Amino acid sequence: MSLPDPALVVLVGASGSGKSTWAASRYRDAEVVSSDALRAVVGSGEHDLDASADAFALLEQVVAARLGRRLTTVVDTLGTDAIRRGAWRDAARAVGLPAVAVVLDTPAGVCRARNAARDRPVPARVLTSQLASVAATVDLLDAEGWQVVRVAVDQSSTDGPALEPARPPASAGAPPGLRGVVLQLSRFPAEGDLLVWLRDMAAAAEEAGLAGLALMDHLIQIPQVGRAWDPIPEPWVTLGALAASTTRLQLGTLVTPVTFRAPGITAKAVATLSALTGGRAFVGVGAGWWEREHAAYGLGFPSARARLDALELGIETMKALWAPGTKPYAGQRISLPETTSYPRPVGEIPVIVGGGGDRTLRIAARLGDGCNVPSDEVGLAKVVRYLALVGQAGRDPASVHATVLDLPLVGRDRDDVWARVERHRGRTAAATFAARHHAGTAAEHAPRLAGLADLGVTTAFVAPVGLDGPDDVLALAPLATAFG
Ligand code: GDP
Ligand code: MG
Repeated sequence: MSLPDPALVVLVGASGSGKSTWAASRYRDAEVVSSDALRAVVGSGEHDLDASADAFALLEQVVAARLGRRLTTVVDTLGTDAIRRGAWRDAARAVGLPAVAVVLDTPAGVCRARNAARDRPVPARVLTSQLASVAATVDLLDAEGWQVVRVAVDQSSTDGPALEPARPPASAGAPPGLRGVVLQLSRFPAEGDLLVWLRDMAAAAEEAGLAGLALMDHLIQIPQVGRAWDPIPEPWVTLGALAASTTRLQLGTLVTPVTFRAPGITAKAVATLSALTGGRAFVGVGAGWWEREHAAYGLGFPSARARLDALELGIETMKALWAPGTKPYAGQRISLPETTSYPRPVGEIPVIVGGGGDRTLRIAARLGDGCNVPSDEVGLAKVVRYLALVGQAGRDPASVHATVLDLPLVGRDRDDVWARVERHRGRTAAATFAARHHAGTAAEHAPRLAGLADLGVTTAFVAPVGLDGPDDVLALAPLATAFG
């Protein structure tokens, strides 16, 4: 069973039907608003009926405040008060949250037995009347517009929400190697042994079954990730170090700006990495965008048009130098007297073109081996456009890599997920931040990534929010098979 999230979840069931147990097994304590618990807050205990009015006043306030922030709210009451129920449903609708009624379908006899075993059982005739109200309520829920979910007895205590069934491997014949999830490392520790840390991260990525490891190519840490004085090592040197400690990961950049190095020098570095790794090298290329790092390092930063021209020229130059032999090259944009480049790369080196501008997509389709765009809705529309452009260029869409950059927030369980949301959201509202990063466990991200694969995406470069150490990388294992 998979429930929408965030959502308003209203429990419906008699005493002893298992409402509180069901809620505690799926939600964080703070997400559950319980009339019994609030009776204990404002009265002498959970069963202090004299405190009911105060408890419900608080409950209404908590429900309204949480829904107003679009935070998941689980209402743990009998669920049989039609007026309150209608108001909660309307409050959820007002902020666009789904309204789910969870009916605990526990047989009357089981409720009675559990109730009788309690320290403070409700009187038998009260339970009888609760059971009747619950039955009457269940008949109304559909007409009231609830998404009704029924929970059967004894499946309610331990099983988590069922995962979507594993999908068969996608049939598209995209080139192997880069297909799958590639870990994008963008943040590095300022203290301790950098090489040890990098090796531990790469080892965890291999153990988790990820397809590769990518590094940003920037001279100064970018503001989207950290502060200017946070460390960001030179990627080709760093990938050379990782070549020595890995055996399966594809290694490359996402992305190298053509403005940093003459393309022949990049071609030489990537070919060397390919030779050092037995053909596990790829290169992301882009037009460059951050003027500050160019100025700081004495590099020119020409117009966008000139940088895109340089991107075309750069890809053509790299491919010329990687081609077999040493013959002269007379191309569209460049002529070289010879193409002598040894060691030879092992196999083909994929060139992934980053950036979503239309000219960039056309360059990727004509000259590159893949594109890279964000994994949001706008980016996914560009994947579709890119694959169409590849076809228009007379190339086989199954021969290219359609890649996205994904920034998920991944936690071990629901508590850890929300602790991370709180740690990293800054001034952004928690619900907004959680939605933007699809906050959830790896098991919850896996079907989402599988959905991207259905749209034609071959590779997700994944840069988890607040990735701390190897344990966080190992936790990505359930994503490894999302692309089949
Ligand atoms: P509520 O009154 O509807 O909130 O019910 P509770 O969640 O407090 O559960 C009542 C009693 O039934 C407690 O002693 C629970 O431990 C027990 N219980 C709840 N759900 C299950 C279940 O799925 N299986 C079993 N065996 N016991 C359960
Ligand atoms: Mg309860």
